[in-house]
Amino acid sequence: MSQSDLRELISRPDYSEEDKKLIKKAYEFAEKAHERQLRNSGDPYFNHVLATAEILNGLGMDACTVAAGLLHDTIEDTQVTELDVKLEFGNEVLFLVNGVTKLGSVRFRGTKRHIESLRKLFIATSDDVRVLIIKLADRLHNMRTLEHVDKDKQERIAAETMEVYAPIAHRLNMGAVKGELEDLAFPYLYPDEHKQTLELASEQYGKSELVLEKINTRLIEELQKAKILYTSTDYRRKHLWSLYRKLKRKDMDISRVYDISALRVIVNGQTECYQVLGIIHSIWRPLPGRIKDYVAFPKPNGYQSIHTTIFTGEGGLAEVQIRTEKMHAQAEYGIASHFQFKNKENSTGGSWSGDWIKRLLKKTTAEYQNAKTPVWIEQMTSVQADSTSPKEFMNNLKDDFFRQRIFAFTPKGDVIDLPSGSTSIDFGYQVHTDLGDHISGAKINGKLSNLATVLNNGDIVEIITSPKSKPSQKWLAMAVTAFAKRRIRSSLQSDKNN
Ligand code: MN
Repeated sequence: MSQSDLRELISRPDYSEEDKKLIKKAYEFAEKAHERQLRNSGDPYFNHVLATAEILNGLGMDACTVAAGLLHDTIEDTQVTELDVKLEFGNEVLFLVNGVTKLGSVRFRGTKRHIESLRKLFIATSDDVRVLIIKLADRLHNMRTLEHVDKDKQERIAAETMEVYAPIAHRLNMGAVKGELEDLAFPYLYPDEHKQTLELASEQYGKSELVLEKINTRLIEELQKAKILYTSTDYRRKHLWSLYRKLKRKDMDISRVYDISALRVIVNGQTECYQVLGIIHSIWRPLPGRIKDYVAFPKPNGYQSIHTTIFTGEGGLAEVQIRTEKMHAQAEYGIASHFQFKNKENSTGGSWSGDWIKRLLKKTTAEYQNAKTPVWIEQMTSVQADSTSPKEFMNNLKDDFFRQRIFAFTPKGDVIDLPSGSTSIDFGYQVHTDLGDHISGAKINGKLSNLATVLNNGDIVEIITSPKSKPSQKWLAMAVTAFAKRRIRSSLQSDKNN
């Protein structure tokens, strides 16, 4: 380890002198604590915690989180005690390190103990989402170095990554982390499919990018002519796992995948998104039915962008994605980027030439603590706090993670994020528990509808209530979400007891 790693770590202009001191101290403390410990690869153990801290630093996390990243394995794996960390670094860093330590080795698959660990993960997260972000960074580095782990453990770790950590990264809208975790796990879980996908893709990347380059050149000319402010135009390659899943749906026919590479246009503001779309469609004919406006209608995890597929004029199709700088940061770094843009207006920070974000902004610890825990995490913890069995908890978790989601709207236009198959009962509970408890009917798109009717994407749902209505067994059968079912069950239970 060298001083240059440390210098790099504290080079962010948004760090105060105090922040830098904290990180420097944690760096030296961790280096000493892990002295002479080695990883499976033969590298010094300290390399792992440093890499974890570097990932957190790159995500733009605050100094306490970066310090906790450096210290995250000290209590578990060295002589260092909780008291040591508290005395040296204070309560906040201790809280984060403890959070990560308590999660221990969260293992997926099977035994009750593992699922208990997973429960803890969600409880810790609902206190402070930074604990989970540290855990994700830790896992990311462990996946990057998985080749050094015993063969018989690799598959289990890869499966856990695919089934637990990647979905969590997805729900936090951390697209870059999710994509990398999945791609790292892919070859351990499906070696043959991985090889096949890689072969198919590597042939296609070149072809596809040649076309994108031509489109890009022409587009830049037009943007300049129209004086549209844009930050960058760039290609992105589809992540391999995500490509594989799409190929499976297309009989492994790669010529039917249009977005293996896509042109990505980053513009200054939301208005420019639509202007650029207009320019693109006036030059290249769009493929009908493939224009997706996730700016007006964000995905449930908050993803925003406009996607369109165009005829390239050379017999092929290409995908273009248009978004603002902020939408881009949110899509790649999700909940972490949220903190960075929060104070944009008040920022006095200098510029930092990280690879993805132009300006990192000064943020305070209080902001992290006051940041609202995502609704799904709150619900997850309340589901688990119920006396459900570990198996049921796991099912709830997997269900809510893996089902397709839909958006429905309140009459005021609030977007409600639900798993597909949801009914007005689920919708009502999602809006407000009180509303759910007193549903007497529902209007879907202005028409009175049966409560059992399955909602479609984009439905406007008006819940009609009556003080006399209350949950029944029938509702239980109509509800899909774990949250609504739990509320209905507990209401039925308390009726029985009275
Ligand atoms: Mn670790």
